Amino acid sequence: MTTTSATPVGTDYEIVIGLEVHSQLLTKSKMFCSCSTGYANEAPNTHVCPVCMGMPGVLPVINQEAVTYTIMTALALNCAIPAYSKFDRKNYPYPDLMKGYQISQYDVPLSHDGYVMLDVQGQMRRIGITRVHLEEDTARLTHRDGYSLIDINRAGTALMEIVSEPDMRSPEEARLYMQQLRELLVYLGVSSGRMEEGSLRCDANISVRPRGQQQLGTKVEIKNMNSFRSVERALEYEAVRQVEVLRAGGTIQQETRGWLETRGVTVSQRSKEQAHDYRYFPEPDLPPLLIRQELVDDIRAHLPELPDARRARYKADYGLIVQDANILTEDKALGDYFERVVTASQTRDRQARARKVAGNWLPEVVRILKEQATSIQDCVLTPAAFANLLDLLDQERITGTQAKEVLEEAFRSGEMPEAIVVRKGMKPPISDQGTLERIVAEVIASNPKVAEDYRGGKTNALQWLVGQVMKKTRGQAKADIVQAVVRKKLDEA
Ligand SMILES: [Zn+2]
Repeated sequence: MTTTSATPVGTDYEIVIGLEVHSQLLTKSKMFCSCSTGYANEAPNTHVCPVCMGMPGVLPVINQEAVTYTIMTALALNCAIPAYSKFDRKNYPYPDLMKGYQISQYDVPLSHDGYVMLDVQGQMRRIGITRVHLEEDTARLTHRDGYSLIDINRAGTALMEIVSEPDMRSPEEARLYMQQLRELLVYLGVSSGRMEEGSLRCDANISVRPRGQQQLGTKVEIKNMNSFRSVERALEYEAVRQVEVLRAGGTIQQETRGWLETRGVTVSQRSKEQAHDYRYFPEPDLPPLLIRQELVDDIRAHLPELPDARRARYKADYGLIVQDANILTEDKALGDYFERVVTASQTRDRQARARKVAGNWLPEVVRILKEQATSIQDCVLTPAAFANLLDLLDQERITGTQAKEVLEEAFRSGEMPEAIVVRKGMKPPISDQGTLERIVAEVIASNPKVAEDYRGGKTNALQWLVGQVMKKTRGQAKADIVQAVVRKKLDEA
């Protein structure tokens, strides 16, 4: 038994998937020159120099930060880091390649033979990592009607490639793998993880074979998937297509196919005969990359907390339930924010505070963020302000209903909740039993019919009366206390 996950092709065929993931690295400068990588909002062809434009006579210099980031990733993926590695030239003619070749790594990559554990519907699956290596990105081409435009800003940006073994057995597993990988890269701080911007890209190799057959089927490479959802959809489409070809007695052609998001289909782009012969050879302009064991040990010792460790810590230290721990781990920034709120709060019982924030307030925060189409990094409400709101609740200066109103307001204005409460003249909740009993008695007296209904066994009559009292106290009374007082009054009459 390999997996429990759903398969789109029935039970007689098995799907085999391996992924090649490219991630731009968050280095300050490009891979082999000192051009800045901060070109996202800049005009085309402004972050360029003779090196990344591939002028004759220039020499590349290896970016140390890119090497460190790649080793960090490789270690987090349980890879071996050999002491010796080198760069190679991958030759192919295409206008997005300034030198006519890409500096990449061929037979001796920076790392090899790792793995990642994947939780597929509660079942742990081991996905092998063939290698993590380093190369450079290409320029960006924009095709217009009859001509193309080139932006060299991206050319020479440090690009990391993570190649998996063909260990995935369903499109769902492939999507989960991508999501887990993205989470890991973001935690390591080496990638923005933004698939929609192309900083994280994925190519997939997929084949099918009759279940039980050892030999792999003919594989097809799929390109152009730029979201987790399109990875899953493209692979589902392709698996069904391949099985249908085989069932009809046909054979699968080894080829590259592109995913057309709008039509929901893959189409042939390049057959095996048209495949490039890259004529790899060692890059003569760069020395071999010698990695000292002390450097690897040092990088390993300074790896940041990774998702699995954070998830476990949230459960152990704060007593969070699994779902809450997962939400706060998947979005690293949200988790960081959560921890700052708990730290900033004046409460003594941090664990109770953490559970309350995660359980009661997290869904509210996620909802508001979605409504405002913003992220927790960009929101104006500081963790200290959020903690202030919770402290006001603790001190019973506002009710839960009032707190939600204040939160909405603070999210918009960035104002301190304390200030909002004062400005709006919010009164502390009515906890004085005498006042509350008087109001309840008034409400019952002016609604004798409803009180009669309650006594006659209509329980929703009680809720209606509670609602009237809440209205009269303008949300300043606590619902559970009001309910108790209303019931008491009705029962004693
Ligand atoms: Zn440059």
